[in-house]
Amino acid sequence: MPIFEFDCRGCGNHFEHLVLPWWENAGELPECPACHKQDVVKALSICAVSSEGTRQNNLAKARKRNSKIVQEKETEEFKEMVDHANEHH
Ligand SMILES: [Zn+2]
Repeated sequence: MPIFEFDCRGCGNHFEHLVLPWWENAGELPECPACHKQDVVKALSICAVSSEGTRQNNLAKARKRNSKIVQEKETEEFKEMVDHANEHH
């Protein structure tokens, strides 16, 4: 069963959803688990691509996404460090 990633245009939620074969053919989209709207777009997933150009594009996107996560994590750790330092004053 293929699992696709979706982005909700209503609330910006990013989620993964199992797509049934006949379901994709029907062109139906799942509803967003966060806001229960069907205003979602299928996000390009690395597993689901066929052409080389698209794959590279997706890899670039994935890298971008990962680096964003790292940045957020680092910022969080930095905040914790500052909080921790302040506790000792
Ligand atoms: Zn939503």
